Amino acid sequence: MVAVVTGAAGFIGSVLLKTLARRGPAVGIDRRPFTAPPGATAITADLLDAAADVRAALAGAQVVYHLAGCPDVRDPRSDVAQHRYRDNVLATAAVLATVPARTPLLVTSSSSVYGGTRKGRPSAETDPLRPRGGYAQSKLLVEQLCEGRAQAGGSVTVLRPFTVAGEGQRPGMALARWIDAARNGLPLPLLGGPQRSRDITDVRDVVQVLLDLTDCRASGVYNIGTGVGHTLAQLAEAICTVVGVEVSTIMALPHPAEVTHTLADTRKLRRAIGWVPRTDLPVLIARQLASARADRPVTPEPESVPAGQLTGEPATVAP
Ligand code: NAD
Repeated sequence: MVAVVTGAAGFIGSVLLKTLARRGPAVGIDRRPFTAPPGATAITADLLDAAADVRAALAGAQVVYHLAGCPDVRDPRSDVAQHRYRDNVLATAAVLATVPARTPLLVTSSSSVYGGTRKGRPSAETDPLRPRGGYAQSKLLVEQLCEGRAQAGGSVTVLRPFTVAGEGQRPGMALARWIDAARNGLPLPLLGGPQRSRDITDVRDVVQVLLDLTDCRASGVYNIGTGVGHTLAQLAEAICTVVGVEVSTIMALPHPAEVTHTLADTRKLRRAIGWVPRTDLPVLIARQLASARADRPVTPEPESVPAGQLTGEPATVAP
């Protein structure tokens, strides 16, 4: 069975491709050059260029995992809307147009389509969607495209991952930035305050969920999360403990698109695959720290929160 992964040079895609390649033939596609793991083939191409090898791989696959996209909620580029439309919406349309209707196709949307949880109630797949900000809106369009495929009788599984963490996490993501800050003896900026919370899933569990959803031929929409929220204060403390430094945080204003709390309702996922991810924060952070030490041995770029947004003095978070 040939499995194809788009976004294979990325954080989740690279772990997925490596895992798939241990099970059988696998092809990774990304416009960023990358080295294919043993047993896999790498295609370096933009999905919108309609290259012959990309079309052949997508058309001939037994399963396609579409992870390519423009993922950063806080992307500061002035033309980010075009990037999101191109790489989230148009690239998904190109994949949908090329993958035969009967081929299982798993497409990554995002938990951001919920616009956060309401009063601590976990977000369920049937909840009304309230996307906040351009990233979430682009993912809603992605879901609508997938809905069109489903209505036409095609096979499609829409995935709504909550925050994913682990080795290789994009350096712009909060945990990666905090780990770098702690390593450099800097305070950890808590965007929006210490009581905000996130449902965080280990990237290895995300990959296992994708494989299990494929194996049980699940279709429809699925949250990928743990059902457990961690406050930013808890995360900061866990990171500082693992790095071995005193806990030091600073308050910062959040990006307007950032929601206050995220929490997955995992019941549908459990019904489909029989289990749900459980995140062991210290273990996850230790792995991510080890990979950050290997990838970024020098001082990282400064935290990109504009100076005018800093709203407090460094503070110690109580355990
Ligand atoms: P990533 O940025 O690390 O990887 C995405 C990859 O897609 C990149 O390597 C990029 O080069 C590639 N890509 C983008 N547009 C392309 C195009 N037009 N043609 C070819 N390649 C293209 O992102 P990630 O964190 O691995 O996330 C994977 C997917 O999961 C994304 O769709 C993201 O929106 C979604 N997601 C991620 C998270 C998370 O916490 N990481 C949470 C929810 C949803």
